[in-house]
Amino acid sequence: MIQRERVADNVFSFQSDIYAQVTAGAVIGPNWAVVIDTLALPEETLAIRDFIEQELNVPVRYVIISHYHADHAWGTYFFPGATVIGHSLCREWLLERGVPSLESSRRHSQVFRNLKIVPPHITIGDGQLTLRVGKKNMSIFSLPGHSADNVAVLVEEDRVLFSGDACMPLPYIVDGNIDDMVLSLKQVSKLGLENIVQGHGDIILRGEIEGYTKDNLAYLSQIRKAVRKAGRRKYPMDILDEVTVESCGKSRVLIGGLAEQLHRRNLIALYTQMYGVVPESSYDDDDYYDDEEVEPE
Ligand SMILES: [Zn+2]
Repeated sequence: MIQRERVADNVFSFQSDIYAQVTAGAVIGPNWAVVIDTLALPEETLAIRDFIEQELNVPVRYVIISHYHADHAWGTYFFPGATVIGHSLCREWLLERGVPSLESSRRHSQVFRNLKIVPPHITIGDGQLTLRVGKKNMSIFSLPGHSADNVAVLVEEDRVLFSGDACMPLPYIVDGNIDDMVLSLKQVSKLGLENIVQGHGDIILRGEIEGYTKDNLAYLSQIRKAVRKAGRRKYPMDILDEVTVESCGKSRVLIGGLAEQLHRRNLIALYTQMYGVVPESSYDDDDYYDDEEVEPE
């Protein structure tokens, strides 16, 4: 159900087999552990907790959440003894948007029936917070773009970065900002990393990091170009319809096959952010935007 990988001594990552290859992590100290993000389904988060508390036999004392989206943040409820850490906006948005969103999910599904939103107890703004676990320093800092509240966690001694959704196989900016995403990717490329544990998808190894950040920056520049071209037309959506994920340099099989769908949303969101209106189509089909609610956030 979840894949577990040992990234460095006492540093683990977990990846969901069920939902959009979403990831989480853990750093294990001699007396207690830190969890970084929770997974989309309660049973997956419970599997992480059991591994740490039953197999490794240490309690989870802190849970750091990278951002407020459900697939990363809703599982804090399963660590009642832990202190939750996140960005101040993450706390605000979990309360403002997460609580009603959970209520509506409960109406459709039994999966979240026992769950409550537990927002961060300790919040950071745009500064940095360092947490010492055993002999390791974990530095937590803002890394926006996917969302304004995204934070990353760097395990300094191991040069392992848990990036949250600032790093994904396909950059996803629908709830964020493309300029922030560009700055964050450039920042990541300069950190001298051994590994990046992306918010979704596989671990990026040291030798792949340069190419990876370059590819993601190239994708962002391609979609910006496409949106500008569309912006000069009467029916911009007709142009955007023809801009496939492959034509922007990315494969459609990424993120469990969701790449094309996420790409379409990126184009529409970027157009809307740049021009202040949704792109119009000559087909004038009112149902056009009613796509299915499959949201890897
Ligand atoms: Zn997200």
